[in-house]
Amino acid sequence: MREQDDLMRHGIGFTSERTRERLIKRLIEEGVSNPKVIDVLRRTPRHLFVDEALAHRAYEDTALPIGNNQTISQPFMVAHMSELLLEAGPLDKVLEIGTGSGYQTAILAQLVERVFSVERIKVLQDRAKERLTALNLRNVVFRWGDGCEGWPALAPYNGIIVTAVAPEVPQALLDQLAPGGRMVIPVGPTGETQQLMLIVREEHGFSRRVLGAVRFVPLLTGPLA
Ligand code: SAH
Repeated sequence: MREQDDLMRHGIGFTSERTRERLIKRLIEEGVSNPKVIDVLRRTPRHLFVDEALAHRAYEDTALPIGNNQTISQPFMVAHMSELLLEAGPLDKVLEIGTGSGYQTAILAQLVERVFSVERIKVLQDRAKERLTALNLRNVVFRWGDGCEGWPALAPYNGIIVTAVAPEVPQALLDQLAPGGRMVIPVGPTGETQQLMLIVREEHGFSRRVLGAVRFVPLLTGPLA
């Protein structure tokens, strides 16, 4: 744990403790309330998940570019989605679609037993892997592929989190949700109003809760890069 703490604080001189604490305060003001989620966001160095040139902006509550036309999610959204996943209690197996920078992955890895993370862009996945290794987060496995298909070989999952928007919830992901399992996913047309949804697998069918407007990059299909 001591070693983990040291790793998490790596580069702290770069961004002052005060800047980081300001972000945490803002997340709480915006309604984030799960103490475990807040603690993990406080401990995780977001500046290690963006280019050095953008590191000074890493503790702003905003999405930032990570190359390949993709973005690291806004801290509030990462906290909010994590909180929604954990609302009904601890989770052991979580499937993440859209690894991107690996920031959401790193947060989840500290909140659940095991994370299975799928990314379609190889270079982003490679970088995310390196970051998680450097932070000594070992309970994550990565897959390069089309997340619309989920990761059937290891299904079912108690939680599924999708960090890119789809016009509809992919059927494969619904199929891979365990009984009582929860999925947090943005749904809607690209670039227009998208809604964050919480889907729960009930005894008979699925319940759906609409949580409000959001903006995400699209969930893509087709050849991988
Ligand atoms: N949670 C990430 C968000 C990255 S943006 C972060 O905070 O860094 C969304 C990510 O989803 C991008 O990396 C994009 O390449 C990926 N993505 C888009 N469509 C996908 C698909 N069909 N399968 C897997 N990943 C996909």
